[in-house]
Amino acid sequence: MAKQKLVEAVVVATETMLWGSLGTVYRRCGKPTCHCATGGEKHGPVFYLTRGEHGHTRNIYVPDELRDQVAAGVAAYRRYRELGQEIAEGNARRLGLENKQKRRRR
Ligand SMILES: [Zn+2]
Repeated sequence: MAKQKLVEAVVVATETMLWGSLGTVYRRCGKPTCHCATGGEKHGPVFYLTRGEHGHTRNIYVPDELRDQVAAGVAAYRRYRELGQEIAEGNARRLGLENKQKRRRR
Protein backbone atom coordinates (compact mmCIF):
# COMPACT_ATOMS: atom_id res chain seq x y z
CA MET A 1 0.00 0.00 0.00
CA ALA A 2 1.19 3.52 -0.76
CA LYS A 3 2.31 5.46 2.27
CA GLN A 4 -0.38 8.11 1.88
CA LYS A 5 -3.05 5.40 1.95
CA LEU A 6 -1.47 3.92 5.07
CA VAL A 7 -1.46 7.30 6.79
CA GLU A 8 -5.11 7.84 5.88
CA ALA A 9 -5.97 4.43 7.32
CA VAL A 10 -4.09 5.35 10.52
CA VAL A 11 -6.17 8.52 10.84
CA VAL A 12 -9.36 6.49 10.44
CA ALA A 13 -8.22 4.06 13.15
CA THR A 14 -7.44 6.89 15.58
CA GLU A 15 -11.10 7.99 15.48
CA THR A 16 -12.28 4.90 17.32
CA MET A 17 -9.31 2.97 18.68
CA LEU A 18 -9.15 1.89 22.32
CA TRP A 19 -6.22 0.43 24.18
CA GLY A 20 -6.71 -2.92 25.82
CA SER A 21 -8.65 -6.08 25.17
CA LEU A 22 -12.30 -6.82 25.79
CA GLY A 23 -12.66 -9.19 28.73
CA THR A 24 -15.75 -11.05 29.88
CA VAL A 25 -16.43 -11.91 33.51
CA TYR A 26 -19.13 -14.01 35.18
CA ARG A 27 -19.40 -13.66 38.91
CA ARG A 28 -21.19 -14.46 42.12
CA CYS A 29 -23.17 -11.59 43.60
CA GLY A 30 -22.46 -12.45 47.23
CA LYS A 31 -26.05 -12.96 48.42
CA PRO A 32 -26.02 -16.25 50.33
CA THR A 33 -29.56 -17.11 49.18
CA CYS A 34 -28.91 -16.54 45.48
CA HIS A 35 -28.73 -19.46 43.07
CA CYS A 36 -25.19 -18.39 42.22
CA ALA A 37 -24.04 -19.11 45.79
CA THR A 38 -25.10 -22.74 45.63
CA GLY A 39 -23.41 -23.73 42.40
CA GLY A 40 -26.02 -22.32 40.03
CA GLU A 41 -25.24 -20.10 37.08
CA LYS A 42 -23.17 -17.04 37.86
CA HIS A 43 -24.24 -13.53 36.89
CA GLY A 44 -23.03 -11.95 33.72
CA PRO A 45 -21.49 -11.50 31.37
CA VAL A 46 -19.96 -8.26 32.57
CA PHE A 47 -17.54 -6.64 30.12
CA TYR A 48 -14.23 -4.98 30.88
CA LEU A 49 -11.59 -3.20 28.92
CA THR A 50 -8.51 -4.96 30.25
CA ARG A 51 -4.98 -3.63 29.98
CA GLY A 52 -1.57 -4.12 31.50
CA GLU A 53 -0.38 -0.91 33.11
CA HIS A 54 2.93 -0.63 34.95
CA GLY A 55 3.07 -4.33 35.60
CA HIS A 56 -0.45 -4.80 36.88
CA THR A 57 -3.75 -5.44 35.15
CA ARG A 58 -6.34 -2.73 35.05
CA ASN A 59 -9.97 -3.53 34.27
CA ILE A 60 -12.25 -0.75 33.15
CA TYR A 61 -15.96 -1.52 33.34
CA VAL A 62 -17.77 -1.44 29.97
CA PRO A 63 -21.55 -0.94 30.02
CA ASP A 64 -23.47 -3.47 27.88
CA GLU A 65 -24.56 -0.83 25.39
CA LEU A 66 -20.93 0.09 24.68
CA ARG A 67 -19.68 -3.45 24.22
CA ASP A 68 -19.78 -3.47 20.39
CA GLN A 69 -18.17 -0.05 20.21
CA VAL A 70 -15.40 -1.13 22.56
CA ALA A 71 -14.82 -4.35 20.58
CA ALA A 72 -14.53 -2.25 17.41
CA GLY A 73 -12.17 0.14 19.20
CA VAL A 74 -9.91 -2.69 20.29
CA ALA A 75 -9.82 -4.00 16.69
CA ALA A 76 -9.05 -0.47 15.44
CA TYR A 77 -6.07 -0.27 17.79
CA ARG A 78 -4.72 -3.57 16.44
CA ARG A 79 -5.12 -2.16 12.92
CA TYR A 80 -3.37 1.06 13.99
CA ARG A 81 -0.37 -0.92 15.21
CA GLU A 82 -0.20 -3.04 12.05
CA LEU A 83 -0.32 0.09 9.89
CA GLY A 84 2.37 1.75 11.98
CA GLN A 85 4.58 -1.27 11.52
CA GLU A 86 4.01 -1.27 7.77
CA ILE A 87 4.92 2.44 7.60
CA ALA A 88 8.02 1.86 9.73
CA GLU A 89 9.16 -0.95 7.47
CA GLY A 90 8.63 1.24 4.41
CA ASN A 91 10.80 3.90 6.08
CA ALA A 92 13.50 1.31 6.76
CA ARG A 93 13.44 0.26 3.10
CA ARG A 94 13.76 3.92 2.05
CA LEU A 95 16.89 4.14 4.19
CA GLY A 96 18.20 1.09 2.39
CA LEU A 97 17.97 -1.09 5.46
CA GLU A 98 17.28 -4.64 4.44
CA ASN A 99 16.46 -7.45 6.73
CA LYS A 100 19.28 -9.89 6.06
CA GLN A 101 18.10 -12.40 8.59
CA LYS A 102 15.61 -14.83 7.23
CA ARG A 103 12.89 -15.00 9.84
CA ARG A 104 10.46 -17.37 8.26
CA ARG A 105 9.61 -19.28 11.41
CA ARG A 106 5.99 -19.06 12.46
ZN1 LIG B 1 -26.22 -14.19 42.63
